[in-house]
Amino acid sequence: MNNPIGRFAPTPSGYLHFGSLMAALASYLDARAAGGQWLLRMEDLDPPREVPGAADAILRTLEAYGFEWDGPVLYQSQRHEAYQAVLEQWLRAGLAYACTCSRKALEGFAGVYPGLCRNAGHAWAGNAIRLRVPELRYSFEDRVQGHFAQHLGGEVGDFIVRRRDGLYAYQLAVVLDDALQGVTSVVRGADLLDSTPRQLYLQELLGLPAPQYLHVPLIIQADGHKLGKSYRSPPLQAEQAAPLLMRALRALGQQPEPTLAGEAPATLLAWARAHWNAAAIPRTATLPEAHLA
Ligand code: GLU
Ligand code: ZN
Repeated sequence: MNNPIGRFAPTPSGYLHFGSLMAALASYLDARAAGGQWLLRMEDLDPPREVPGAADAILRTLEAYGFEWDGPVLYQSQRHEAYQAVLEQWLRAGLAYACTCSRKALEGFAGVYPGLCRNAGHAWAGNAIRLRVPELRYSFEDRVQGHFAQHLGGEVGDFIVRRRDGLYAYQLAVVLDDALQGVTSVVRGADLLDSTPRQLYLQELLGLPAPQYLHVPLIIQADGHKLGKSYRSPPLQAEQAAPLLMRALRALGQQPEPTLAGEAPATLLAWARAHWNAAAIPRTATLPEAHLA
């Protein structure tokens, strides 16, 4: 295989936290240890949920933690035309359709859209747009989590690609942008494991190559919340770089020498690149925070 292209794709709805540091670190080490590139993409698709200043703060924190990325950062807020073009193709082809269902109307369907608006012919403008899914199972071999399969019709249903408020959906943007950036290896948190079959379907539909996937374990706090998904996730401090990188490496199953704790972040990352072993990542989707060394 040619040199891989990896990427880190944070959402600026909050600051970098320990869980996203693990994803950044794993994707960085996995690409760079193999002599590949590591790209950055800001997934700023949802301005109402954005924390002002978070996008820049994430980049500054990555720099303070010793990360160096290749090329300019891709901002999804600059990509609306590409998303819209694909959406319109699908609408014209009848692959996508407008949905007017309220949240209330969808209660009782356990999160699987039952196709109520499939043949309703609602106006495209001002409504959510859903993509038809096939009655098929999509599966892949995750490098850490192993075999993962989902029946799109039965477990997901036609899913939203543009929201009623006009915002493009993550699933659409991530697939188009991974392809634009030439990403061959997606390394990210296990919260996105069950998005992957939808993304495989989108790649198939668009004639795009599927990258390899590696989903790192999520850290679960003592109260059961996922780290980073709750108000309690603290932003990472620059002064904490060395100890937190050490902690993230250990959570990823790596064995950094204790003396590294006194080194600069760049030195620590250089050691970690030279010793990266993806096979040592714990083969689990969740890790209790209490178990972190
Ligand atoms: N933007 C997503 C997040 O921060 C990650 C997307 C991805 O890695 O595919 O959770
Ligand atoms: Zn509907």
